[in-house]
Amino acid sequence: MTVGVLALQGAFVEHEAMLRSIGVDVRQIRLPRDLTGVDRLIIPGGESTTIGKLMVMYDLLVPLRERIAAGMPTWGTCAGAILMSRRILDGRPDQPALQVMDIESRRNAFGSQLDSFEADIDMIGLDAPFHTVFIRAPILQNPGPACHVLASLADGRIVAAREQHMLATSFHPELTSDDRIHRYFLTL
Ligand code: GLN
Repeated sequence: MTVGVLALQGAFVEHEAMLRSIGVDVRQIRLPRDLTGVDRLIIPGGESTTIGKLMVMYDLLVPLRERIAAGMPTWGTCAGAILMSRRILDGRPDQPALQVMDIESRRNAFGSQLDSFEADIDMIGLDAPFHTVFIRAPILQNPGPACHVLASLADGRIVAAREQHMLATSFHPELTSDDRIHRYFLTL
């Protein structure tokens, strides 16, 4: 199995390192041809406007959308989750995005006071809480009927969701030493 990590901008090196540590073959994706032979994809955190623009610049937006629609398991973390959501709130009106998952994202939803924080998340599919970090994180909201909430904060705000073969987390599991969500993704 080869997992592609979109390597245009953001925290892709950390995803690669975590995948390698659990024995997975990893490939950086920068051009459409890099997708050949890739079975799964991670879209990392970073800056969603920049990643979206680079996807257009490198002709990746359409091929990625097609591969995901055809069933390639795909996981977006933070900016990656924003790019996967059907609608981006508080984004730039011209922000290019994949829009493959039936859920909305609200960018930078925790405001400047809470730019970055850590929390213990109870996530469906995991045996025990997951301690993780949120960095200028989005929240997810209004999931469609096929989209299942996997984790919320104590106040009910959604931070992880799954729709068939697609996973979105508004936090950064790759910045921890806990590989359970990476392993979970490999089961999708
Ligand atoms: N705030 C960023 C954005 O809107 C996401 C931050 C992150 O990926 N850590 O794209």
